[in-house]
Amino acid sequence: MIFDADVIVVGAGPAGLLVAGDLASAGVSCALLERRPDRSGLTRAFTVHARTLEELDARGVADELVALGTPLPELRLFTSAALDLSRLPSRFPYLLVTPQYQTERVLEERATRMGADIRYGHEVAGLTQHPDGVEVRVRQDGNPDRVLRAGWLVGTDGMHSTVRQAVGMPFPGRPVVHSVMLAEVRLTQAPPSALTVDSTGDAFALVAPFGDGWYRVIAWHRRDEPSEDIPVSLDEVSAVTRQAIGTDYGMHDPRWLSRFHSDERQVPRYRDGLVLLAGDAAHVHSPAGGQGMNTSIQDSANLGWKLAATIKGWAPPGLLDTYQDERHVVGRQVLRNSGALLQIALKPPPALVGARNLLAQAMTRIPFLAKRLAGAISGVSISYPAPPGAHPLTGKRVADLPLADGRRLYEALRGGRFLLSGGPGTFPADAATGYLDRVEAAPIARASTTLALIRPDAYIAWAAAASTVTAPQIRDCLAHWCGSPAHPAAHTVGR
Ligand SMILES: Cc1cc2nc3c(=O)[nH]c(=O)nc-3n(C[C@H](O)[C@H](O)[C@H](O)COP(=O)(O)OP(=O)(O)OC[C@H]3O[C@@H](n4cnc5c(N)ncnc54)[C@H](O)[C@@H]3O)c2cc1C
Repeated sequence: MIFDADVIVVGAGPAGLLVAGDLASAGVSCALLERRPDRSGLTRAFTVHARTLEELDARGVADELVALGTPLPELRLFTSAALDLSRLPSRFPYLLVTPQYQTERVLEERATRMGADIRYGHEVAGLTQHPDGVEVRVRQDGNPDRVLRAGWLVGTDGMHSTVRQAVGMPFPGRPVVHSVMLAEVRLTQAPPSALTVDSTGDAFALVAPFGDGWYRVIAWHRRDEPSEDIPVSLDEVSAVTRQAIGTDYGMHDPRWLSRFHSDERQVPRYRDGLVLLAGDAAHVHSPAGGQGMNTSIQDSANLGWKLAATIKGWAPPGLLDTYQDERHVVGRQVLRNSGALLQIALKPPPALVGARNLLAQAMTRIPFLAKRLAGAISGVSISYPAPPGAHPLTGKRVADLPLADGRRLYEALRGGRFLLSGGPGTFPADAATGYLDRVEAAPIARASTTLALIRPDAYIAWAAAASTVTAPQIRDCLAHWCGSPAHPAAHTVGR
């Protein structure tokens, strides 16, 4: 089969834009097909969490996004309970409030810079898998369908994924909340916080700024869930907001009003042959906790380098399968957490609101519980399975550390390679010989008793006590994670 690209990515939302950028930066040719005629001006997500910002930092675009948003050091669950994020062990100890289109713009510009071929107005209508590649049926501007071919296909085409349906992947789950109102309005009075949220039991409301004078309002009333095709009025949104928050901040001049419902669903497998699923195409849940876009971006950060390694020919056996092993379980956990938050935020019967508030206060004020919740919501406590007997750091997210050459560790990750890292003098200078296309030796600036191999997605692949580790053990670890040395197609790449 003659390919139009090594990989076709379907859907230019946050997940598709990140994975396309990663593939292109690894030297893999990538066509990103998007059915919209151009860049999206719509916004669903408003919150970018610390772990997502760290992944963006490892690609050199976090600071640009942070400059466009409002960092919030606490996540207010209700008036009575706020989760402190200021102590997160991260360069980004906050959640960033910024509309989704800003995140998409930053990711799109990066993907384009890296060489991804982004084609708007290209709707995927179906696909056929062959042993050596995938044929994709593409519809463009009402013209007859044409066929594009690639070795691999990544479906990041959202909740109603055509790709998922075309491979016959089930999407089991259930609806969890109906008839939630969305509005984009002006306010006469700015709310005191960039993210205002509260619920009384019957009524829930959230207000967040776009940053240009417009605000997003999400409002829901337990006893008033009309059919989703009944138009929303501003009065309705305003009344529910007043009931939930105590004021509607003088909302007026709506430019957009609609209703939506949320499901909780997850596919059983993130891969079917040469087709991989990521983001909302693989899992959906309610917006509670602001996890969907963050999880989608992190799926792609996990997938991109593994797929690139497979296409480049150096991936050790089974590397690509670890995408399912690692991300499916994270997706399941996110569904659980967001489902629990939904019950707490939206659904307690009014009689139980007092108890709910006490529970929320306990969760946000008892240090041990608050730390766990902050780690889960921000994503910094996500870790991946480690083999039995592995060093305790194996599978954990790596912290940002100063390196001996003056860079930060997350800056070094922008090269798109593994980092072999430890205190000065803890590993021989030639430890990564034969792997320089895939591994950079990056000693940290301070003494450390640990030697670690850090993956391109900023998780620890392998770690050992530096005093006991031998050169053959380092070679074994490199072979396990990075394949055979000096692959003939080797070349240095950057993100
Ligand atoms: C009200 C609301 C609030 C939310 N708030 C948050 C929040 O604060 N934080 C958070 O993390 N998440 C939030 N989310 C969830 C978040 O918006 C999604 O999880 C995120 O957009 C998923 O990204 P994605 O790239 O997987 O899919 P999408 O963003 O859905 O992108 C899919 C893309 O694929 C394209 N496409 C679809 N079909 C085809 C086809 N056949 N051919 C070509 N292109 C196609 C679509 O046009 C679209 O551009 C919220 C969701 C809602 C509804």
